[in-house]
Amino acid sequence: SEAGLGLVVENLVTGYGSIEVLHGVSINVEPGSAVAIVGSNGAGKSTLLRAVSGLLPVLAGSITLGSHDVSSLSPHKIARAGVGHIPEGRQVLQRLTVRENLILGAQGSADAPERLDALLETFPALRDKLGQVGGQLSGGQQQMLAIARALMANPRLILLDEPTVGLSPKLTDELYYLLARIRHEWKATFVLVEQNIALAADLTDQAILLQRGRVIRTEPSKSLMHDEDLLKAYLT
Ligand code: ATP
Repeated sequence: SEAGLGLVVENLVTGYGSIEVLHGVSINVEPGSAVAIVGSNGAGKSTLLRAVSGLLPVLAGSITLGSHDVSSLSPHKIARAGVGHIPEGRQVLQRLTVRENLILGAQGSADAPERLDALLETFPALRDKLGQVGGQLSGGQQQMLAIARALMANPRLILLDEPTVGLSPKLTDELYYLLARIRHEWKATFVLVEQNIALAADLTDQAILLQRGRVIRTEPSKSLMHDEDLLKAYLT
C-alpha cells in the first residue's frame, strides 16, 4: 500500500472562538513514523488533532501534509487527502450493522469489498459480528469498530485520540497489538494522544510534550517516557 504522509505543523495558533488554546505549536512528523503527543489535561492535545483534521481554524502558522499546505482546507478535503481522525469516544452508528459501518468508512470507494476483506484479516473479531448492529457491541468492540471504520478509508496519516479510554486491560493489549501491526504493514504515519505512557512508548518513535498550548519537549519516546522526573512534573 501507499507510504505514510508526512505532517509539518509550523507555529500553529488555534482555539475556540475567542479562546486561543495553541499559541504557536510546531511539530514535524516524518512519513511513516509515529509520534505520541503527551501532556496534562487541557494542554491542547485534542485541539492539535482537531486543527490537523480541519475541524478548527488555523489562525496563524501552517499545516502541511506531504507537500500540500492544507491550512485552509475543509475537514472533508483533508480526509480526502488521506487523514483519518479517530476522536475520543465512540463514533459508531448504533443502528447500522458492523458491515454497514465499515462500508461507510470506505467513503464510496469502488474497492470497498476488497478493503473490507483485507481489514477483516487484521480485525478477525469483527468478522463474526458483521451482521450485528453497532449498538449491540460492547464498548470495547465499538471502539475497535470505530478504528476499523476509519481505516477503511485507507488513511495515510492516522490521528488517534486516546483510543484505549474505557477499554479493559485485555482489549487495550489487543488494540495495541493491532495498531503495531497496522503501523508496520500499512506504513501509515501515526499521531497518537495517549495517557498510558508505557503503551505510547512502545508504539511511537518520538514524543512531544505539550504544556498550556506550547511544545516544551520533543524527544525519542523511549527516553522521554522513562524520564520520571519530567513526567511527574508535567503529567500530573
Ligand atoms: P484532555 O486530556 O483533558 O482532553 P487535552 O490536552 O486534549 O486534554 P484539549 O481538549 O485540547 O486538551 O483542551 C485544551 C483547552 O481547550 C482546554 O482549556 C479546554 O478547556 C479548551 N477547550 C477544549 N474544547 C473546547 C471547546 N469545544 N470550546 C471551548 N474550549 C475548549
